[in-house]
Amino acid sequence: MWELVSLISTATAAGLFRAWLSARAEAKETVDRIRRQAEAERASRDRQLRQAEVEQVTLLNSMIEGLLVLDEGGRVRLANEAFAELFRLKQTLTGRTLMEVVRLHEIQEIYERTLVEGRVHGFELELPSLGNRFLQINAAMAMDTDGNRRGMVMVFHDVSRIRELEATRRDFVANVSHELRTPLSMIKGYVETLIDGAAGNPEVASKFLHTIEKHADRLTFLIEDLLTLSHLESGQFVINVQRTDLSEKVERVCEDLFNKAEAAGTVLVNEVSADVWVRADSDRLEQVLSNLVDNAIKYGGAGRVKVGVGEGRPGMVEVTVTDTGPGIPADAVERLFERFFRVDKARSRDQGGTGLGLAIVKHIVQVHGGEVWVGSVVGKGTTFHFTLPSA
Ligand code: ADP
Repeated sequence: MWELVSLISTATAAGLFRAWLSARAEAKETVDRIRRQAEAERASRDRQLRQAEVEQVTLLNSMIEGLLVLDEGGRVRLANEAFAELFRLKQTLTGRTLMEVVRLHEIQEIYERTLVEGRVHGFELELPSLGNRFLQINAAMAMDTDGNRRGMVMVFHDVSRIRELEATRRDFVANVSHELRTPLSMIKGYVETLIDGAAGNPEVASKFLHTIEKHADRLTFLIEDLLTLSHLESGQFVINVQRTDLSEKVERVCEDLFNKAEAAGTVLVNEVSADVWVRADSDRLEQVLSNLVDNAIKYGGAGRVKVGVGEGRPGMVEVTVTDTGPGIPADAVERLFERFFRVDKARSRDQGGTGLGLAIVKHIVQVHGGEVWVGSVVGKGTTFHFTLPSA
């Protein structure tokens, strides 16, 4: 009997033990599964965090504006690449103070003003030490969700190009007004003198009327050149590129300017051989050649003006216009293609010049994909070079 009881007990105990073992294994598996899940979630969260960080850095570095984030103590927490470029900084910026980083008391003052006022908007700063740049700075305190100050965000916008364009526009308007006013006041002065009695003297009247005509012509040339330039710069300027015979174009320009050259004692020589073809807008090419040869006669004086071809880059034809005139001083050469720039203002005006011819030449050549430059030796002469695609 006891044996039976003992057998049953043993069997029950064994069953219970097996059940306990299996429950333990199951529990362990559950714990492992939960742990694995937690690890996977943590890894995924870390990945997401790292991804968010990468995206944030990419976003900040894609900004054109320089961005600087300072902590509560005024030390750099974050700066984007544009900020480092703007201030030409190469070293690590994190942890340094604003003054250590930018070394500009004006920016330190903006920082202090922002601490007091909460934000500073549209502060503009000229920085001669950074290549005469103009910066517009916006700064604001950064707050946390409870409204506590957590530091400061500063945004630096480089507005140098805008200021430069504004200055160019201002200069242009001033120049145009001046160029228009000069011949107009001359015309008015002569007309008044004629009204006041000079008209009664045929000799004086004829002289005055010729002068008036000359100044009226100047106004016409100026307005024509201004319209051409504005058309060229409008972005809607279309060129009708065709296979063009360069030598024939040069010949035509030389014929048109023959009388003018003869009056100045200048000999025009076309050295372009008949087999040179370019891809160009025929009328515009004539305008370029005409401007350069006309200048060579006007400023070169008595002597020779030669149009030829030089060795251009592959696929390009280099055209040269050479005179034997007084040449152009080196400091003026760099500015020659600027609008209204003249080496000798009085001489240019006297010759009916507008100061826009070379600016027009440069535009036309560039629209064709070419380049224009000048070489000059004072006392010997000047050569203008321009390139056009060969055909
Ligand atoms: P402008 O209407 O005054 O001739 P351009 O733009 O054609 O205007 O030329 C600008 C200036 O460049 C001229 O005023 C002149 O001083 C100088 N220049 C141009 N071509 C020559 C040249 N061949 N020799 C000397 N100076 C020149």
